[in-house]
Amino acid sequence: MATWTVTTKTMVILEETGPPHAGSLLTIDLDAIGANYRLLAERAHPAECAAVVKADAYGLGVGPVARILARQGCATFFVAHLDEAIELRGILPRVDSAAIYVLNGLLSGEEATFHAHGLRPVLNDLGQIDRWSRYCSAESKPLPAAIQLDTGMSRLGLPLSEQAVLFAQPDLASRFQLSLVMSHLACADTPEHPLNRTQQREFSTAIQHFPGVPASIAASSGVFLGPDWRFDLVRPGVCLYGVKPNDSGPNPMAQVIRLQGKILQIHDVDTPRTVGYGASHRIGGPTRIATVAAGYADGLLRILSNRGVAHVGEIALPILGRVSMDLITLDLSPLGNATETGGAVTPLQPGDLVDLIGPYRDVDAVAADADTIGYEILTSLGSRYRRRYIGAPSAPSIAEAHA
Ligand SMILES: *Cc1c(COP(=O)(O)O)cnc(C)c1O
Repeated sequence: MATWTVTTKTMVILEETGPPHAGSLLTIDLDAIGANYRLLAERAHPAECAAVVKADAYGLGVGPVARILARQGCATFFVAHLDEAIELRGILPRVDSAAIYVLNGLLSGEEATFHAHGLRPVLNDLGQIDRWSRYCSAESKPLPAAIQLDTGMSRLGLPLSEQAVLFAQPDLASRFQLSLVMSHLACADTPEHPLNRTQQREFSTAIQHFPGVPASIAASSGVFLGPDWRFDLVRPGVCLYGVKPNDSGPNPMAQVIRLQGKILQIHDVDTPRTVGYGASHRIGGPTRIATVAAGYADGLLRILSNRGVAHVGEIALPILGRVSMDLITLDLSPLGNATETGGAVTPLQPGDLVDLIGPYRDVDAVAADADTIGYEILTSLGSRYRRRYIGAPSAPSIAEAHA
């Protein structure tokens, strides 16, 4: 598990959003995102470090996240949807200082919208290349766009058959500004997987057809595969938000979020009884239960029923019974045991907060409890938490940090 850097610097609340009466609290450390960007940029150097902020910056809020990244010197952003790109353009209005790519590609009829907002499509097939070419010809403007080549995901990007057509007729990409050639790795979080090298070789050969055009294959995990995968630009997403790039060694990324659930009720059960839907947990002896205001509608995945834990400091409190939509129930016995063994733990009361994701259980640990990946934990957090964005009163820009 990652170690949390206990900072002594002054942190202030920079922004608060979300429902005003929400009991549970999601704290997002913008300085940690800035530090993660700088670490990735240093790793990637001399390649450019872009940032992926799709899905509302992996659920953390694209406004504050994109602004802190831009302040670190990030000049290229990727989102999945056209609407996400339009929103991001509103946050970063200067087209000359923020290139915005739309990974999901160019659908029919969207050309003028891309143009009007200064956005760059990632052209994923020959039809999209043709569409952008025609639009640029009609407008007499060689507008920028990326081409994506599939090298092993079989998801988005030109399949091999279309790549052969494009390589035989380079003119197909001559009527717009080809600003990036990219591909995507399937197994970058498993450094020893042979597909990493296979895709790297295939991509290296393919980009020889585009001399002088910047190339990119690495997302977060790819940055850590080594220099052969960095090319001219890297596109990390999840590592910016504190998730580990792979399983080898400690997580180099700073933790970004802390999720605290508010206790609504303390429930003393002294006769044998069951807990929650489906009566999936039976209490034998006297037990004190805390009912907390967060459930599967708030990203506490239902698989965490009878399995996940919350924390009070380092003391883990097991989730008893099923996770419901709005609530979880926690076994407070470990606190009693801690008191008996001499730990001075003040009893919990309604209104107190317990850590659901935090210093003693980070995003990756919760993901492991839930048999999933950090990406799903982050993007499932939902919109019902009070969100508190913290950071130093004036976070240094990358230029200031290196001065
Ligand atoms: C989501 C995505 C990324 C970012 O991936 P992370 O693993 O979050 O760093 C980069 N490139 C493409 C094509 C993506 O879809």
